[in-house]
Amino acid sequence: MSSETPIPTAGPLDPETEARLHALPKVELHQHVDGSIPAEVTWDLMRHYRLHPASSLDEMRRFLEIQAGEEGTLLAYLDKMHYPLWVTQFYENISRAVEAICEAAAGAGVHTLELRYAPLIHTYAGLTPRQSIRAALSGMNHALKSSPEMKLGLIVIAMRQHGPHIAKILARQALAEAQHLHERTGVVGFDIAGPERGNPPRLFRSAYEIARLGRLGLTAHAGEDAPVEYVWQAVDELGVDRVGHGCSAAREPELLRRLARDGITVEVCLSSNYHTGAVGRGETHPLVAFLEAGVPVSLCCDNSTVSRTNALRESVLAASQVGVETVETIHKGAGAHTFIKPETALPDPAKGS
Ligand SMILES: [Zn+2]
Repeated sequence: MSSETPIPTAGPLDPETEARLHALPKVELHQHVDGSIPAEVTWDLMRHYRLHPASSLDEMRRFLEIQAGEEGTLLAYLDKMHYPLWVTQFYENISRAVEAICEAAAGAGVHTLELRYAPLIHTYAGLTPRQSIRAALSGMNHALKSSPEMKLGLIVIAMRQHGPHIAKILARQALAEAQHLHERTGVVGFDIAGPERGNPPRLFRSAYEIARLGRLGLTAHAGEDAPVEYVWQAVDELGVDRVGHGCSAAREPELLRRLARDGITVEVCLSSNYHTGAVGRGETHPLVAFLEAGVPVSLCCDNSTVSRTNALRESVLAASQVGVETVETIHKGAGAHTFIKPETALPDPAKGS
């Protein structure tokens, strides 16, 4: 497709349909902290430290949100996470950013929210990995005060480029904060992200084994920027419950049958996939192939700030491709695939109960 072909975006829906999708209780299973911090919050924090590289919030948005003409490359997309990292190296700032993301999600009608977070890239000013995880959890606990009906949980990400040994260390750190060990919001899952090619899932087997034994939910970014073998490995060798993106899987019927048979959910991120070039301009999104094959799916933002989206806009965009009823069915079904299971939580020893 030529670069003239427009990127699909959530167009205007009739007000009745939009109201219907807004009222729909939505399930968000794949949203990154770094790419989802509201621009206002990053702007405010950067100004506080006199680190702002722009003279106005509107100008700042250009550094944080994908711009027309930048779509289609993963590097341009990932570059948008660069500035928020400057200020999310301190406990209070991480907590504030996470709280703001949760509040924004609640505003878009999200009832179940799993945020994912790479603790190590927030330790450059001296936080330990445990403190970094706790800072994110503290933001979620604050958000629960204003939105007590929300179900919240954190997925810990090991960055692929840090290698398998660091991933094992992180899996152990994640376990110590696991939700089923505490009564408060906790870590519910484990993931790998970052440069996919050259870092195949099988390298991370030991880390996933640790996370599995510790009863964390397992997901992995696979098949976003790499061939279908990477998705097979995530399924066969890591034993994932869910796959992030999984775009390349849509080209292999045998794998689609396997995902459907084993109930392995694909976390579908429509806008992000068009923005990074995982799905080409004008191409039908693999969501359609997943649905036709009976693969469980969820609709996710990936990075709501970078992609200028939210759960409502993703639902609107999906509805334009597969219909409103299907979107409603997806959100109703996605609740079964969340890693958040507060009912299995142990009483928090800190509360003495
Ligand atoms: Zn992602």
